[in-house]
Amino acid sequence: MTRKRIALVAHDARKGDLIAWIGAHLRFLAGHAFWATGTTGTLVRKAHPDLDVTPLKSGPLGGDQQIGAMIAESRIDMLVFFVDPMTAQPHDVDVKALTRLATLYNIPMACNEATADMLVASPLFSNGYTPRPADFHSYERRAV
Ligand code: PGA
Repeated sequence: MTRKRIALVAHDARKGDLIAWIGAHLRFLAGHAFWATGTTGTLVRKAHPDLDVTPLKSGPLGGDQQIGAMIAESRIDMLVFFVDPMTAQPHDVDVKALTRLATLYNIPMACNEATADMLVASPLFSNGYTPRPADFHSYERRAV
Protein backbone atom coordinates (compact mmCIF):
# COMPACT_ATOMS: atom_id res chain seq x y z
CA MET A 1 0.00 0.00 0.00
CA THR A 2 1.25 3.47 -0.83
CA ARG A 3 0.86 5.59 2.27
CA LYS A 4 -1.23 8.60 1.38
CA ARG A 5 -0.97 11.97 3.09
CA ILE A 6 -4.56 12.98 3.68
CA ALA A 7 -5.80 16.37 4.91
CA LEU A 8 -9.00 16.51 6.96
CA VAL A 9 -11.16 19.55 7.68
CA ALA A 10 -14.72 19.74 8.96
CA HIS A 11 -16.77 22.78 9.77
CA ASP A 12 -18.35 22.64 13.22
CA ALA A 13 -21.74 21.33 12.07
CA ARG A 14 -20.01 18.56 10.10
CA LYS A 15 -17.39 17.37 12.59
CA GLY A 16 -19.56 14.54 13.89
CA ASP A 17 -20.28 13.45 10.32
CA LEU A 18 -16.57 13.36 9.48
CA ILE A 19 -15.77 11.29 12.56
CA ALA A 20 -18.57 8.86 11.69
CA TRP A 21 -17.40 8.75 8.07
CA ILE A 22 -13.86 7.88 9.14
CA GLY A 23 -15.24 5.14 11.41
CA ALA A 24 -17.25 3.68 8.54
CA HIS A 25 -14.21 3.66 6.22
CA LEU A 26 -11.42 2.57 8.55
CA ARG A 27 -10.65 -0.39 6.31
CA PHE A 28 -9.58 2.07 3.61
CA LEU A 29 -8.07 4.73 5.87
CA ALA A 30 -5.99 2.76 8.39
CA GLY A 31 -2.27 3.07 7.78
CA HIS A 32 -2.41 6.41 5.96
CA ALA A 33 -1.09 9.67 7.46
CA PHE A 34 -3.44 12.52 8.30
CA TRP A 35 -3.07 16.24 8.87
CA ALA A 36 -6.09 18.20 10.04
CA THR A 37 -7.18 21.62 11.15
CA GLY A 38 -6.83 21.86 14.93
CA THR A 39 -10.25 21.10 16.34
CA THR A 40 -11.07 18.56 13.66
CA GLY A 41 -7.75 16.80 14.22
CA THR A 42 -8.08 16.73 17.98
CA LEU A 43 -11.58 15.24 17.77
CA VAL A 44 -10.59 12.69 15.11
CA ARG A 45 -7.59 11.60 17.15
CA LYS A 46 -9.77 11.18 20.24
CA ALA A 47 -12.35 9.14 18.34
CA HIS A 48 -9.82 7.10 16.35
CA PRO A 49 -6.63 6.89 18.44
CA ASP A 50 -5.07 4.29 16.15
CA LEU A 51 -4.90 6.72 13.22
CA ASP A 52 -1.78 8.82 12.69
CA VAL A 53 -3.30 12.31 12.87
CA THR A 54 -1.35 15.56 13.19
CA PRO A 55 -3.52 18.53 14.19
CA LEU A 56 -2.43 21.89 12.81
CA LYS A 57 -3.81 25.28 13.86
CA SER A 58 -7.55 25.66 14.12
CA GLY A 59 -9.07 26.59 10.74
CA PRO A 60 -10.06 30.17 11.62
CA LEU A 61 -6.60 30.67 13.15
CA GLY A 62 -4.76 29.66 9.98
CA GLY A 63 -5.13 25.87 9.80
CA ASP A 64 -6.76 25.92 6.36
CA GLN A 65 -3.90 28.04 5.10
CA GLN A 66 -1.36 25.63 6.61
CA ILE A 67 -2.99 22.80 4.65
CA GLY A 68 -3.01 24.99 1.53
CA ALA A 69 0.73 25.58 1.96
CA MET A 70 1.29 21.82 2.32
CA ILE A 71 -0.61 21.25 -0.93
CA ALA A 72 1.52 23.88 -2.69
CA GLU A 73 4.62 22.05 -1.43
CA SER A 74 3.32 18.67 -2.71
CA ARG A 75 3.01 17.34 0.85
CA ILE A 76 -0.68 16.38 0.65
CA ASP A 77 -2.19 13.73 -1.65
CA MET A 78 -5.88 14.15 -0.91
CA LEU A 79 -8.26 16.52 0.87
CA VAL A 80 -11.45 15.53 2.66
CA PHE A 81 -13.24 18.70 3.67
CA PHE A 82 -16.72 18.35 5.12
CA VAL A 83 -18.13 21.79 4.37
CA ASP A 84 -21.16 23.31 6.09
CA PRO A 85 -22.85 25.21 3.24
CA MET A 86 -25.56 26.65 5.54
CA THR A 87 -23.37 28.67 7.88
CA ALA A 88 -21.29 31.73 7.07
CA GLN A 89 -17.67 31.16 8.12
CA PRO A 90 -15.49 33.96 9.51
CA HIS A 91 -12.57 32.50 7.55
CA ASP A 92 -14.46 32.04 4.28
CA VAL A 93 -11.56 33.51 2.31
CA ASP A 94 -9.25 30.84 3.75
CA VAL A 95 -11.71 28.09 2.81
CA LYS A 96 -11.87 29.46 -0.72
CA ALA A 97 -8.07 29.65 -0.89
CA LEU A 98 -7.74 26.05 0.27
CA THR A 99 -10.21 24.65 -2.26
CA ARG A 100 -8.58 26.77 -4.96
CA LEU A 101 -5.14 25.33 -4.24
CA ALA A 102 -6.49 21.77 -4.15
CA THR A 103 -8.03 22.44 -7.57
CA LEU A 104 -4.89 24.09 -8.92
CA TYR A 105 -2.56 21.30 -7.81
CA ASN A 106 -4.93 18.57 -9.03
CA ILE A 107 -5.41 17.04 -5.58
CA PRO A 108 -8.40 14.71 -5.18
CA MET A 109 -10.81 16.71 -3.00
CA ALA A 110 -14.10 15.70 -1.44
CA CYS A 111 -16.26 18.49 -0.04
CA ASN A 112 -19.16 16.23 0.87
CA GLU A 113 -19.71 12.72 2.14
CA ALA A 114 -20.85 11.11 -1.11
CA THR A 115 -17.72 12.26 -2.93
CA ALA A 116 -15.55 11.12 -0.03
CA ASP A 117 -17.24 7.69 -0.19
CA MET A 118 -16.37 7.42 -3.86
CA LEU A 119 -12.79 8.60 -3.42
CA VAL A 120 -11.80 6.01 -0.84
CA ALA A 121 -13.74 3.18 -2.49
CA SER A 122 -12.20 3.86 -5.89
CA PRO A 123 -9.64 1.30 -7.07
CA LEU A 124 -7.44 4.32 -7.82
CA PHE A 125 -7.27 5.04 -4.08
CA SER A 126 -5.43 1.83 -3.33
CA ASN A 127 -3.55 1.01 -6.54
CA GLY A 128 -0.79 3.61 -6.34
CA TYR A 129 -2.47 6.04 -8.74
CA THR A 130 -0.63 9.35 -9.08
CA PRO A 131 -2.58 12.31 -10.47
CA ARG A 132 -1.08 14.12 -13.43
CA PRO A 133 1.13 16.80 -11.90
CA ALA A 134 0.02 20.35 -12.50
CA ASP A 135 2.22 22.05 -15.08
CA PHE A 136 3.02 25.69 -14.41
CA HIS A 137 5.94 25.92 -16.77
CA SER A 138 4.49 28.50 -19.14
CA TYR A 139 3.05 30.51 -16.26
CA GLU A 140 6.38 30.56 -14.46
CA ARG A 141 8.15 31.68 -17.61
CA ARG A 142 5.73 34.50 -18.46
CA ALA A 143 8.04 37.21 -17.15
CA VAL A 144 11.24 35.79 -18.59
P1 PGA B 1 -11.23 23.42 13.02
O1 PGA B 1 -11.21 24.22 11.68
O2 PGA B 1 -11.00 22.00 12.70
O3 PGA B 1 -10.10 23.99 13.86
O4 PGA B 1 -12.56 23.68 13.65
C1 PGA B 1 -12.06 23.81 10.65
C2 PGA B 1 -12.40 24.97 9.77
O5 PGA B 1 -11.58 25.37 8.94
O6 PGA B 1 -13.50 25.48 9.92
